[in-house]
Amino acid sequence: MRIRREHLTKIVATLGPGTSSPEKIDALFRAGVDVFRLNFSHGAYEEHKKRLDAIREVENETGRPIAVMMDLQGPKLRVGQFGDGPIDLATGDHFRLDLTDKAGDQSRIQLPHPEIFAALETGAELLLDDGRVKLRVTECGKEFADTEVVVGGPLSDRKGVNVPGVVLPLSPLTKKDRADMEFGLEAGVDWCALSFVQRPEDIEEAKILVRDRALVLAKLEKPAAIDRLDGIVELADGIMVARGDLGVEMPPEDVPILQRRIVRACRRAGKPVVVATQMLDSMVERPVPTRAEATDVANAVYEGADAVMLSAETAVGKYPVEAVEMMNRIINRVQKDDAYWKNLASERPEPEATTPDAISAAVQQIGSTIDAKAIATYTTSGSTTLRVARQRPEMPVICLTPRTDTARRMAIVWGVHSCRAPDARSMEDMIETAVHQARIDEFVETDDRIVITAGLPFGTPGKTNILRIARIRPKDELHEVSGF
Ligand code: PGA
Ligand code: MN
Repeated sequence: MRIRREHLTKIVATLGPGTSSPEKIDALFRAGVDVFRLNFSHGAYEEHKKRLDAIREVENETGRPIAVMMDLQGPKLRVGQFGDGPIDLATGDHFRLDLTDKAGDQSRIQLPHPEIFAALETGAELLLDDGRVKLRVTECGKEFADTEVVVGGPLSDRKGVNVPGVVLPLSPLTKKDRADMEFGLEAGVDWCALSFVQRPEDIEEAKILVRDRALVLAKLEKPAAIDRLDGIVELADGIMVARGDLGVEMPPEDVPILQRRIVRACRRAGKPVVVATQMLDSMVERPVPTRAEATDVANAVYEGADAVMLSAETAVGKYPVEAVEMMNRIINRVQKDDAYWKNLASERPEPEATTPDAISAAVQQIGSTIDAKAIATYTTSGSTTLRVARQRPEMPVICLTPRTDTARRMAIVWGVHSCRAPDARSMEDMIETAVHQARIDEFVETDDRIVITAGLPFGTPGKTNILRIARIRPKDELHEVSGF
């Protein structure tokens, strides 16, 4: 059985304790997952490795490339531990954070991050436990900060700390992240996601370590990153609207506006963008989402996001497969709405003055004029496919690449049907392979047309310069290509 997705906006699902078995991973894939996320904030290496092996097994069985994204924890700040269990902070209380490695109490707790104290200033706000508790700094030194409780509440061991207003002198890569990254890259992940990115330089630093072993995705969850949005989008290979921490670091009413801004900036730049967190949150406990959640997923699709993501829903939820099926249904439904296509067209970016962009824009126009059933893009690095997908054409984009890693990486991109195929040696070869792939994956029937784009000489990255139209001729027999 050949698997072909109907949904153009891709589905990212986080794996966790509830979804580690090969059977569950297979079921999630069949329900519509295009990208699996391994969350390195939790879980041991062996567990991640087992999940990755199971994913590659599904790939082998179905012949479909699957992207795997490792998500690094990043410099998530946490308080230390209390001596007598959780405390309760009342508004107006005084509370100290310091470096002392001693159990905390009603008056103080350890915050084992000297860099934070160096960067804090009087008046700065600290948010604890996902923003449930808010402190304001009244006085600070190299090893402590005295604060007043602005919003009180309970506080327990190892709760997270966010410092929204301050650019922290922190690399987004902790020692743990660097070790995790080596492990993940060695194991063969396709995307490496960086948490709490603040500046474009953070991406540069990560890229030096990653080299070409994976693409780098920047999670936008800090106000500082929003201030440097264009620079980060330019350097990163992909972006995540990480609404969980973003909604703690900034007021919740800002999140929808930032989501739109980020999605637009990515579309303009032709970088894949993932909208993440709490999309179908109530499905952690229930088999159906709230109407508001269904609307949230649909809105991300209308905005033109490349992918929508499930976190707790699939990692620890009771209905992981149902959550994927629900996302799949919502995406497919939106795609049937004319307003969706009008919206995508109205935000179609101007081509840059380059040959690849001129060709990509032409491919979309020609495809639409002749009602082509697919666009086939030959690519080595994926850049041709990305530029064509940026146009959001009305027909699927088939990515043909000799590189296994490129085929997997492109699985996250809007509208892309990724395939590993031998590199073309001649023009006839190119047409033959594209037509063959379009036929066996049932994008076309006899007499349909497809548009093909590639770079000559074949196999040179970033050289898109030809465009062909092919009509599908009747064929006696087609050979199934099996295996991955
Ligand atoms: P996380 O990132 O789930 O790793 O925190 C996503 C987010 O913050 O939204
Ligand atoms: Mn986060």
